[in-house]
Amino acid sequence: MAEIRSPRLLMEECRRYSAQMSELRTLLEERLHAAVGEAATIEVAEIEAALERMERGLYGTCTRCEAFLPLDRLRRMPHVQVCASCAGETRLSA
Ligand SMILES: [Zn+2]
Repeated sequence: MAEIRSPRLLMEECRRYSAQMSELRTLLEERLHAAVGEAATIEVAEIEAALERMERGLYGTCTRCEAFLPLDRLRRMPHVQVCASCAGETRLSA
């Protein structure tokens, strides 16, 4: 059964979420800078796509199965928008 949460808790959650998003945006922008400097075209495209997803409020979900991506994964690879299993990181067979 869904719990009714107090507006204050919701506000706190919302604030935490925005703080995480701005942290990840900063990471993305730093990476974008570095990738442009290295002329890493593919990475630039991935980072730009991730920033665009952020603009549309889609950032942080897998582009294939729509699962929420864990925050530690986003911190490590902020431009990667597929979950570990869709990325084949727990590879069975391709
Ligand atoms: Zn997935």
